[in-house]
Amino acid sequence: MRIAVIGAGLAGLACAAALQAAGASVTLFDKARGAGGRLSTRRIDTPSGEASFDHGAQYFTAHDPAFQAEIDRWAALGLAAPWPAAGADAWVGTPTMNAPARQLASGLDVHLSSRIDALRRNAEPDPAWWLRIDPDEHGPFDAVVVAVPAEQAAPLLEPWDSDFADLAGGTRSRACWTVMVAFGTGLSETSDVLQHHGPIGWAARNSAKPGRTGPESWVIQAEADWSDAHLENRADTVLAELLAAFEQAPGVDLPAPLAATAHRWRYARSGDAGKGSLWNARLGLGVCGDWLLGPRVECAWLSGTRLAASMLAGPA
Ligand SMILES: Cc1cc2nc3c(=O)[nH]c(=O)nc-3n(C[C@H](O)[C@H](O)[C@H](O)COP(=O)(O)OP(=O)(O)OC[C@H]3O[C@@H](n4cnc5c(N)ncnc54)[C@H](O)[C@@H]3O)c2cc1C
Repeated sequence: MRIAVIGAGLAGLACAAALQAAGASVTLFDKARGAGGRLSTRRIDTPSGEASFDHGAQYFTAHDPAFQAEIDRWAALGLAAPWPAAGADAWVGTPTMNAPARQLASGLDVHLSSRIDALRRNAEPDPAWWLRIDPDEHGPFDAVVVAVPAEQAAPLLEPWDSDFADLAGGTRSRACWTVMVAFGTGLSETSDVLQHHGPIGWAARNSAKPGRTGPESWVIQAEADWSDAHLENRADTVLAELLAAFEQAPGVDLPAPLAATAHRWRYARSGDAGKGSLWNARLGLGVCGDWLLGPRVECAWLSGTRLAASMLAGPA
């Protein structure tokens, strides 16, 4: 089986790794410059050295024993560690949040900076999938996996499976404006995690996570309602508003930032279509991603591994 996976976030990577382990020839395509999707880390140079920020997922937890076993594997490789500041069962990637995703990607054929804008399928008797990266096409593939957020999956699926496309089109994500700020001195009076203060839903001292180096760094995330309402605002306006709100939080006495920037996640927290994964065996078309199970890292991994299991099970 020659299989193309669109999206090298955790869902696509987990699916691809399981398929490859079973003997399939797998090629991944991602529009970003690195693998990991929303399990992501941004680095920014400051006068006090490089600061790193987990500006997507903050931590992950496991409810399913299979995902706990995967976390244990990451931990044994030094790629994950507990982070009690976020809860007794909270884990983070080490030394950065995207480390587990990068390890998975390192064993796979991943094409980065490769946005797929359409799928084409040859008709019978010799069916095959082709992926368009305008103006070129990549293929042939026997099966395609779409492992991108619901809103981005819908147009890719629409010409091929209207039920899948309708499900994706009807699943809505929430946005998240995220500020990354580094300081030359520590905010010593503040705990490592601060929640629900004005427009701020969550703020965390990123530099206090295990394995981090560099200057004091904070990730500040706006509440979903605030982010949705301010979605089209300028990044510099959002940055100023969220820093002002952070300064008002109890115990926070802000020194002058060394560096600060704001990032808009348009599709941060997925909906939950409640399906786990989708597989059309007749066409050789699969769909996975957090939005099929819920807005969490674990859901993305479970969705990817469940899709691989369905694909490997063959026709019912
Ligand atoms: C700000 C924020 C905070 C979060 N906090 C937490 C948390 O604390 N705990 C938790 O468990 N979860 C959290 N999450 C959710 C978690 O990050 C996601 O559930 C999970 O990472 C989703 O993985 P995925 O593989 O389904 O999707 P993604 O990680 O989004 O991967 C999809 C990939 O597809 C690529 N792509 C999209 N379209 C195309 C295309 N046309 N062609 C090629 N590539 C394409 C994208 O570049 C991306 O790499 C958070 C997310 C955000 C954004």
